Amino acid sequence: MDSMDIILNVSGIADDSIVDGPGMRYTIFVQGCPHHCPGCHNPQTHSYKGGKQMTLKKLLTEIKSNPLLYGVTFSGGEPFEQAKALAVLGREVRKLGLHLMAYSGYTYEELEEKRKTEPEVGELLDEVQLLVDGRYEQDLRDLTLLYRGSENQRLVDLDAMRNAGDLQTVVLWQEDI
Ligand code: SF4
Repeated sequence: MDSMDIILNVSGIADDSIVDGPGMRYTIFVQGCPHHCPGCHNPQTHSYKGGKQMTLKKLLTEIKSNPLLYGVTFSGGEPFEQAKALAVLGREVRKLGLHLMAYSGYTYEELEEKRKTEPEVGELLDEVQLLVDGRYEQDLRDLTLLYRGSENQRLVDLDAMRNAGDLQTVVLWQEDI
């Protein structure tokens, strides 16, 4: 099977979002989330049933059709539950020169732990440039935070960490566009 025929279970798409990361973005909300954070704004994404089955080919065609995009964001739901498909799509997105961002209810440290038993988690993480990590904590809700819902969540600058050659020390992202 062509890797572009892989199916992603999608809850929804925002094809010209300006709230899911820097610049104009194509945001994919995946279906299925194990975290069940109280107060979650996307409870319809929790179930692993339902959602829309979309091929990576279809998603990539839509992404390519908008020359104004700065980047692509994987949101949820929990993107790392569909890491295999998103790692393939993420690689293609990066080849187009687009910026790749992902949300996760897992912390960066938890994802690094998960990659030891689920290689596809590592494959996706290796493509992501900017990660918003951690569960939504409604007691720490802050509407003024950039791209995040609660104070515990971080904007993890994976590109900066790679440039520094140190993937152990989390570097927080500073807006530069
Ligand atoms: S990780 Fe995100 S989608 Fe999942 S329950 Fe928490 S806030 Fe909702």
